[in-house]
Amino acid sequence: MSEPAGIGDVSGGSVVDLIGNTPLLRLEKIADNIPPGVEIYAKAEWMNPGGSVKDRAARKMVSEAVKNGELKGGRAVMDSSSGNTAIAYAMIGAALGFRVTIVAPENINAERKKTIEAFGAEIIYSDPIEGSDGAILLARKLKADSPGKYFMPDQYNNPLNLLAHYETTGPEIWEQTGGRVTHFIAGVGTSGTIMGVSRRLKELNSRIQTFAVEPAEAIHGLEGLKHMETSIVPGIYDPRGFDETLFVSTEDAYAMMESMVRREGIFGGHSGGAAVCAAVRKAQSLESGVIVTVLPDSGLRYLSEKLWW
Ligand code: PMP
Repeated sequence: MSEPAGIGDVSGGSVVDLIGNTPLLRLEKIADNIPPGVEIYAKAEWMNPGGSVKDRAARKMVSEAVKNGELKGGRAVMDSSSGNTAIAYAMIGAALGFRVTIVAPENINAERKKTIEAFGAEIIYSDPIEGSDGAILLARKLKADSPGKYFMPDQYNNPLNLLAHYETTGPEIWEQTGGRVTHFIAGVGTSGTIMGVSRRLKELNSRIQTFAVEPAEAIHGLEGLKHMETSIVPGIYDPRGFDETLFVSTEDAYAMMESMVRREGIFGGHSGGAAVCAAVRKAQSLESGVIVTVLPDSGLRYLSEKLWW
């Protein structure tokens, strides 16, 4: 079987080259009740071409596989994801010319299903009641049943996931704040963002404090985030890599994102609402500081979910 055209061609004007270097926004209006010496900034990760922070990890994992020959012989990239990583794989697969199979809970919303399929990727559905953990287990089974058919990046256990953030997100934040960043706060799903950015920022300045944000409840509405105590803990997750976990309720995260939309004109997804909520609370406990957080995706990805008007 001949190789699909374009495999391995990751330079020279591909859409894949647009990943990263996202803007850093100053949040002022929603942070009007914080001490005057504290600034809050947010990385606009929805500006990535696939619409989320997960483009970074997907590009890193897939481009290493291309280099190592793991995608030869018509193998498909197959992984579990409830949304953003799936869309990132599907986009990169279309751009670079390989097949993509996504394992996702059947109840992922219409925007996600249609976007994944629009890029030509296949979706295999797992039991919606089992959530993202059910998708992880089904992906492992598919791989075990047909090892030669798939390359499985395994974003939860692949160190390249956090390396993507160590190599890109972390240095971008350092440069965009002119080295002034004092605190970094990010929601945790696979934990690639918090682990990779923490490692890089702490190397650059060991006094920088970093915080993971988890949903306060086991059953929550914060798509993309994991309540670690009741979930399969990702292999790349290591709480020694950051300072502390902050917990935010679904209700508070939604309220924060609603206020971001109306007052800042920033239409982000709810996990970003949770991260900003944690950032504002942290700001209230400081006298001075430069807090950076992450807005992982756009609210447009959730329009059918009746959370928006
Ligand atoms: N928010 C959203 C919307 C996500 O899709 C993800 C990825 N699961 C995250 C936050 C967390 O990112 P990470 O996987 O790097 O921990």
